[in-house]
Amino acid sequence: MEQGYFDEGALIAVLTTQPLDRCLDYKAPEGGCHLGAFVEVPLGPRKVMGVVWGPGEGGYDPSKVRGVIRVLDAAPMRDEMHQFLRRAADYTLTPLPAMLRLATRSPGLGDPPGMRTVYRLGDSEPERMTDARAKVLAVLREYGGLAFTLSELAESAGVTSSVVKGLVKQGAVLEQASPRDTPYPLLDPDLPGLTLTEDQAAGAAMLAEAVAGGTYGTTMLRGVTGSGKTEVYLEAVAACLRAGRQALVLLPEIALTAEFLTRVQARFGAQPAEWHSGVTMTERRRCWRMVGEGGAQLVVGARSALFLPFRDLGLIVVDEEHDTSYKQEDGVLYNARDMSVLRASLCSAQVVLASATPSLETWANVQAGKYRRLDLTARFGVAVMPEMRAIDMRAEELPGGKWVSPTLRDAVRARLALGEQSLLFLNRRGYAPITLCRACGHQIGCDHCDARMVEHRFQKRLVCHQCGETKPMPLTCPSCEAEDRMSPVGPGVERLAEEATALFPDARIAVLSSDLYGSARALKAHIESIAKGEADIIVGTQLVAKGHNFPLLTLVGVIDSDLGLQGSDLRAAERTFQLMRQVAGRAGRAERPGTAMLQTFQPEHPVIRAILAGDEDRFWAAEASERQAAGVPPYGRMAGIILSSPNVQEVFDVASEMARRDGPLRAVNAQLYGPAPAPIARIRGRHRVRLLVKADKGVALQAALTQWVAQFRLPASLRLSIDIDPQSFL
Ligand code: ADP
Ligand code: ZN
Repeated sequence: MEQGYFDEGALIAVLTTQPLDRCLDYKAPEGGCHLGAFVEVPLGPRKVMGVVWGPGEGGYDPSKVRGVIRVLDAAPMRDEMHQFLRRAADYTLTPLPAMLRLATRSPGLGDPPGMRTVYRLGDSEPERMTDARAKVLAVLREYGGLAFTLSELAESAGVTSSVVKGLVKQGAVLEQASPRDTPYPLLDPDLPGLTLTEDQAAGAAMLAEAVAGGTYGTTMLRGVTGSGKTEVYLEAVAACLRAGRQALVLLPEIALTAEFLTRVQARFGAQPAEWHSGVTMTERRRCWRMVGEGGAQLVVGARSALFLPFRDLGLIVVDEEHDTSYKQEDGVLYNARDMSVLRASLCSAQVVLASATPSLETWANVQAGKYRRLDLTARFGVAVMPEMRAIDMRAEELPGGKWVSPTLRDAVRARLALGEQSLLFLNRRGYAPITLCRACGHQIGCDHCDARMVEHRFQKRLVCHQCGETKPMPLTCPSCEAEDRMSPVGPGVERLAEEATALFPDARIAVLSSDLYGSARALKAHIESIAKGEADIIVGTQLVAKGHNFPLLTLVGVIDSDLGLQGSDLRAAERTFQLMRQVAGRAGRAERPGTAMLQTFQPEHPVIRAILAGDEDRFWAAEASERQAAGVPPYGRMAGIILSSPNVQEVFDVASEMARRDGPLRAVNAQLYGPAPAPIARIRGRHRVRLLVKADKGVALQAALTQWVAQFRLPASLRLSIDIDPQSFL
């Protein structure tokens, strides 16, 4: 038997995506199968998909072991991926079937490649030439041998599809069947890039050399927004392509992909493969297959792209690495940034963690000598970091229900007079966070969650930001039935837009909030038009903080700088610092210098002062020593345990029992806190209770947690989830 190959009839262990706690034994099919092969196996009366995970365990009556039905038409899982799934499962305490589901999220994974109808240039001329026909032939000639689908061809030529069909009848255009999953166009790393500044060139050379070395390593790439981080890491991608290996660029937000695709096109002459929730099923399938077969050199995607079956991954870039969306908060609780490092270490790849405001975790790894550090110090061109100023709200005169201070208002007016853009930033979606009855004080909450419902005036509905439930805005109070007394309390981005319209009646105002666009494409178009200057004032949420370029923007007004500092989250200071710096970084990207104004009621707060001073290293050092003193991440380990059940008594009983029998945790000196109701004590009708485990850095926490949890028999109605390195404490 050759290494990793099972002859027909050999006992093999198959891991399926079914929620079982172990692999199942089967017999290898006719012709045998490879280790890692994707197979279809019988499970009870059903057929399910699985992967050949290793030799069978045995111990059953051999005559009862069933055979593999068929080997699927997909490249076998490579050993590196197998190791990655195992290690990621161990780290996140996730059952392997759930990990395998992440790695097989391709529609029609095992189906043979389908065919589709395509159109190419034929040899004969049409009998009668019309303008429309000439256009079609011109498009086909222009693109040489390239095949088009019917709609692509008709659209590119600006004609109806019947024109194309007419040409087919005449033999001037050929209609052919062609395999569906085709390789992506080749990227050319040797096209001339931009001329880099000295700083950028040095950084690019260092990354390129690391990639060419073909070993594992992680580099923090830090530089203010606009310093050219993207340009620099594209050179690392170029080095990776030259080495014949594949590269992956992770972005935190789909809306950022469009801009990135344009830059890849400009640098490498073609577009990369895309993997995120906005791509069609056909493209998803193509991407998954081509990544595995080597027909995709570069993938740009969301965090789940990390689980694609790369054949030879040489570089992972995590852009905006501090972004919280890299942590998946439901299902498998993993952090794509951390898992990138794991995957890269298993396949000898380089990782680039790029950010203007890196996470404290990354900074600590640099301090500890585990990651290299690369700083881009200047913004590209003449643009400099904006001037940062606080507006002390205690000294401003503002009527109730208004949020733009006179100082900020005057600053916006000055920009309007100059024909420059301003941004009013408020990190709150919707119209108002609270809807209250003025007669009885009743607040409208969600029926399924312990959360208030947020009015969304554009949609004319109340929305629960926890579970997504919506209901119409009531005219009478649901509690005291008073009429017309329901009123909004507090600001949301929609309400702020209303105020801006009243304050600046002649200005063109655009609202940027993730919930206002039906599709990523509509959002992208909107962002592009704003960047070109089709708005004077942008009213936006967190969405605008994430890497978009607004070259005409010179003023950023932060409506509520104190918002993130409330609450008990251990990362509150870090988050506020990052968000404020990111938002401020939107201003003054081109020739004109920018100003950022922070409305705050506590200008002396250390975080606000650090933001104003712009001294990042000092902020980090201070934050690091506080966390070190408290023994919390990244200087200690944490795991959050959430128990939930429709039955409130049951969930507290189980949680108390778990807290009592904490022997395995005490054995490693870990401390357990709780149980306590989770900050959102009910979601979708399930009551939630939290336990928190804290341990020293060197402790084998996962093993201790596994032992601890294994002591309990949990009722079927109760769900337990363990969140290693929790980001969110809700
Ligand atoms: P970051 O990723 O750090 O925000 P980018 O790479 O997006 O920075 O660069 C900001 C802008 O400056 C982009 O439009 C980019 O094309 C431009 N830019 C950066 N470096 C150069 C350069 N060396 N030559 C020309 N344009 C540059
Ligand atoms: Zn709800």
